[in-house]
Amino acid sequence: MALIVQKYGGTSVGSIEKIQNVARKVIEEHKNGNRMVVVLSAMSGQTNKLIELAHQMTEDPDCRELDVLISTGEQVSIALFSMAVKSMGYEACSLLGFQVGIKTDQIYGKARIQEIETARIFQELEKNQIVSVAGFQGLDDDGNITTLGRGGSDTTAVALAAALNADVCEIYTDVDGVYTTDPNVCLKARKMESISYDEMLEMASLGAKVLEIRSVEFAKKFNVPVHVRSTFSNERGTMVVAEAKDMEKVTVSGIAFNKNEARITIAKVPDKPGIAGKIFDPLMKAGIVVDMIVQNTSEEGLTDLTFTVIKADYNNSMKVLKEVAKEIGAEKVLGDENISKVSIIGVGMRTHAGVAQKMFNTLARENINIMMISTSEIKISVVIEEKYTELAVRVLHEAFGLDKPTAE
Ligand code: ASP
Ligand code: MG
Repeated sequence: MALIVQKYGGTSVGSIEKIQNVARKVIEEHKNGNRMVVVLSAMSGQTNKLIELAHQMTEDPDCRELDVLISTGEQVSIALFSMAVKSMGYEACSLLGFQVGIKTDQIYGKARIQEIETARIFQELEKNQIVSVAGFQGLDDDGNITTLGRGGSDTTAVALAAALNADVCEIYTDVDGVYTTDPNVCLKARKMESISYDEMLEMASLGAKVLEIRSVEFAKKFNVPVHVRSTFSNERGTMVVAEAKDMEKVTVSGIAFNKNEARITIAKVPDKPGIAGKIFDPLMKAGIVVDMIVQNTSEEGLTDLTFTVIKADYNNSMKVLKEVAKEIGAEKVLGDENISKVSIIGVGMRTHAGVAQKMFNTLARENINIMMISTSEIKISVVIEEKYTELAVRVLHEAFGLDKPTAE
């Protein structure tokens, strides 16, 4: 008898029929003798609608009240789900975050889970109930409702699985697993059998939006096996798990891309101590996150500094940096919004030589110019012209043999 935590996303509970479908799936597992804890998202589109309502009321909604409002979507889902289960002849009990005892810090809209009490859930499971829990919400020390940030139900599910010491956390969604790259871009993209936490973290942060990134961090920290799979089929999906020895046999496991960044260069910056701080401090104060920083070797005491920011922060960054450039005596600030970042990811890179070279040669053969390069132990990212993104993804997918199942 296993203890299974399942999470169903918004599209899986988007209508009465879909909720009934979920109830049938959960009951199947319950009948197999498993103890079931089910985390639900709000019905698709609901959270957006609630946020819209708040903005119709006022331009700048109070963040405490906004959390009270947007946490209600999940309450609707678990209530309807429990009703469905009961109408099918099984026992069910829905619980909100505070009823479970999901304790968070006080950061409204982006709260972090600090502790989860398990007594109430175990009590209900003892009574042979199918327990459903509202995703995305918690309670701070002062008894205020908090939410975990968009997509936060994934984190609720993984955190619950960790706290309950569940055998597996199954994330049900509208895709059937994690793919080697976006199948919309590359027809030969293949569903992976398994992927390590670290690879998944790289894939998630680079734009493959299957799992919310914090949930993967949680899963890694507490070693929770996560199974990403489709609500609409019974096929196995992708296991997100701790790294196994044979994972290193493959050099590259996946390719991610991100068109959501822009590149900025500050040209002819005086090369002396303290300058980098002077450039990045004002950006940090403006809440701008900087990625992929490259500084050139200096010539006659002057150097160029290039980095990327997300496109939404581009205009603001340029404004801030033009001021900074004047202050520190840099020559000019150049910007380019038409770029994208393409990354190859794989734990096997640690033990295989020549991966970077193969990536660069593959891109060169297509005449794709590389503007920036950055690497980590298990990832190589390049910045290229945005219009070549799809081509780059496809040729790299082919070059690293990701279309072949034997590669696994
Ligand atoms: N309903 C929330 C959202 O739309 C949380 C979630 O679905 O994971 O972001
Ligand atoms: Mg989601």
